[in-house]
Amino acid sequence: MVDLTGRPVLVVGAGRVAVRRTADLLAAGALVTVVAPDVAPDIDAGTAAVHRRPFRPSDVDGQWLVLACTDDSDINAEVAQTAEANRIWCVRADDAERSAAWLTAVSRVDDFTVAVSAGGDPLRARRLRNAIEVELRSGDLAVRRGRSAGGKVVLVGGGPGDPDLLSLRGLRALLDADVVVTDRLGPTDLLARLPPEVEVIDVGKEPRGPATSQESINTLLIDNARAGRTVVRLKGGDPFVLGRGTEEVDVCIDAGVEVEVVPGVTSATAAATLAGIPLTERGTAQQFTVASGHLPPGDPRSTVNWDSLGHGTGTVVLLMAVSNLEKIAMSLIDGGRAATTPAAIVENASLPEQRVIRGHLDEIAELAATHQVVPPAVVIIGDVVRLP
Ligand code: SAH
Repeated sequence: MVDLTGRPVLVVGAGRVAVRRTADLLAAGALVTVVAPDVAPDIDAGTAAVHRRPFRPSDVDGQWLVLACTDDSDINAEVAQTAEANRIWCVRADDAERSAAWLTAVSRVDDFTVAVSAGGDPLRARRLRNAIEVELRSGDLAVRRGRSAGGKVVLVGGGPGDPDLLSLRGLRALLDADVVVTDRLGPTDLLARLPPEVEVIDVGKEPRGPATSQESINTLLIDNARAGRTVVRLKGGDPFVLGRGTEEVDVCIDAGVEVEVVPGVTSATAAATLAGIPLTERGTAQQFTVASGHLPPGDPRSTVNWDSLGHGTGTVVLLMAVSNLEKIAMSLIDGGRAATTPAAIVENASLPEQRVIRGHLDEIAELAATHQVVPPAVVIIGDVVRLP
């Protein structure tokens, strides 16, 4: 936890340890000089100054830090003594006890830097570092900010609904939020895990049910961010896949509010995979197309090219298509897809209620009606679907 940017650092030795330290130091922005009679070819000589000769006491002149990494403890001792005499911190790789300074096992998660030292045992230090890192990344060790980071919106793609399918970055954003503006779809079970002081605002709309207008969602996001709060906009799947994510991002940018987007596992692919259906498969399909079915073919507002989907050969994935399924299936058959093309509907993908219904393209809408399929559901059409 010292700023080495632009500061001279001396590495004595050029074995494996020295090579690794040199790389770390260069990454930290240090001006590294390496001194060793035999320098390994993979040392980063491009940016470090390398002197192929034995250590000389004058090498420590002007250094902020010295690393004694030779495999000869006499030389390391000499380097350490010379550094000590010049009031320069020296790390001895071979002898923690005789070292004046120690390197730590470091991990960086968000704005945390975790640095662990464990009685000179680097393996134990790394184990503790790893354990802390896992807990931090998983949100199990959630350390909320004392004060709000302030005035920002994070669009989080929540995945199809199972909390396990939310990314670790998304989960941490959620655990750090002051306000969560949530949809109906996505990992809504997680909301119960949030600390009580977190305000949860549900703007989710049932299909055809009452909806919070996009306008008032936008206002919510901006007003809360401007009041200095960290706002998480939790969305189902990926925020930029049929999710109006860009509209919310643009509104923030226009309002001068800081905004960040965390990608999510989209239901377009997750529903298929969870149902055991590969969207591409060698020899069967080399492409898939995701389309929205919220407008029926022929609707003037639709920009989906149903004809091209009909005479194409790749897999077709439809979101928001339950209520228009009959018209869509007919249009695909008119466009050239065989009536016997296999199709599947995955309802409530990733949730305990997940159901998969399979049939031919010309009967899939009827099957949906018989089984009373309701949104959310993804429809997959193509030979990648295996019928029993
Ligand atoms: N941004 C989201 C899609 C939003 S549109 C994403 O990337 O997944 C809403 C549609 O997504 C639903 O009508 C349905 O087609 C699909 N969907 C979302 N979650 C789903 C789930 N758990 N199971 C099946 N379909 C789902």
